[in-house]
Amino acid sequence: MSLALLGGVPVRTRPFPLWPDYDGQEEADLLRVLHSRAWGGYHPSVAELERSFAELHQVPHAVSCVNGTVALEVALRGVGVGPGDEVIVSPFTFVASATAILLCQGAPVFADIDPQTLNLSPAAAEAEITPRTRAIVVVHFGGHPADMDAFQQLARRHKLALIEDAAHAHGASWRGIPVGGWGDAGTFSFQAFKLMTAGEGGMIVTRSSELADFSWSYCNQGRRRDGGWFEHVRLGTNYRMTGFQSAMLGAQLRRLPQQTEARAANVCYLRKGLRDYPGLTLADDDPRVSGHPYYLVTLRYDPEGFSGVPRDLAIKALQAEGIPVKPTYPYPLYRNTLFRKDGNLLGRYKGWSASQDYENLALPAAEQVCRDGIWLSHNVFLGDREDMDEILHAIGKLHRHASSLLDVKGVAGQELE
Ligand SMILES: *Cc1c(COP(=O)(O)O)cnc(C)c1O
Repeated sequence: MSLALLGGVPVRTRPFPLWPDYDGQEEADLLRVLHSRAWGGYHPSVAELERSFAELHQVPHAVSCVNGTVALEVALRGVGVGPGDEVIVSPFTFVASATAILLCQGAPVFADIDPQTLNLSPAAAEAEITPRTRAIVVVHFGGHPADMDAFQQLARRHKLALIEDAAHAHGASWRGIPVGGWGDAGTFSFQAFKLMTAGEGGMIVTRSSELADFSWSYCNQGRRRDGGWFEHVRLGTNYRMTGFQSAMLGAQLRRLPQQTEARAANVCYLRKGLRDYPGLTLADDDPRVSGHPYYLVTLRYDPEGFSGVPRDLAIKALQAEGIPVKPTYPYPLYRNTLFRKDGNLLGRYKGWSASQDYENLALPAAEQVCRDGIWLSHNVFLGDREDMDEILHAIGKLHRHASSLLDVKGVAGQELE
């Protein structure tokens, strides 16, 4: 049977589980907020969500806000990042991990990733520390926790603040301790495709009551928790989550553990099946990972294992078979116009200068995964074994017929332009 991209019958036409997911619980909880007429940020479900989110992450404090970008910005402000401070961050992440630093008038300094876990490499991060370094932002990429033993030590040794961007990592844990509570603060996103969502939303978790109070106050117009409505003790703004969001997120949070389990079982099965295809590999998790929600599964593609078919053509072929694979980020963050000289970043803020020449930066492990990575996202793993078998079947079909893609004049060239 020929490849679907060349007119054959696709392996699969059924859709994978849809995301976002919801049931009657969200419907009932949304109506409860509607009928209460307390639609704003002080609906009781906001405090309830903060309590249960803090409990899941085994920290005393959780403060909600409008989105994950703002959560990161507030946490950075809370630990004192300001004009001219350098903050070390991974270049293989969503842009918000770095722009939140810029919004505090700090300077992102990119260090390379570990090729196995795709998280910031502790050794590469350490090499970038200067007297101006103020903090490290670690991203638990795809849900795989970063090496929190190494980062905690590094932060202590150099007296740096440690912030965890846990936008991919709801419920993830490292050596039995949930992410978010390892650093000074952890931040989460509830954006539409994240593991828990109300369309938008964010959360800051911390062990520090000062940081929690600052975060709450900053998100609530500089008020004091016990102060008057018109009493403002610091510069703040309105970053409040609404009651509608927190009501939906309460339902999503209750569903998270069983979804995490389902995804882990399916990833485990897929990993075993992939051993038949040396051209497509899924790295083992670090043995110290005790909870992994598999927000993104990154496969590494080697054309050698598929008759020399380039990655992007292999992706097209698998998509035609009904498998929703995607290429990774097209390039590391520092290649964005924002970070190039013509992006006018340098000199935008008084006292700002990068110790790093973004223009000439090329961090090998980050560059490599942008070339050879293939993503499968979390919703794909919410179904059953048959879904995994069909993914493996499609990969097997591509493996057997890969050379036929190269035979057809025009296909390879056309797809790669
Ligand atoms: C989604 C995401 C954010 C930002 O979250 P928003 O809620 O969309 O603002 C930050 N960091 C990472 C790694 C993300 O994936």
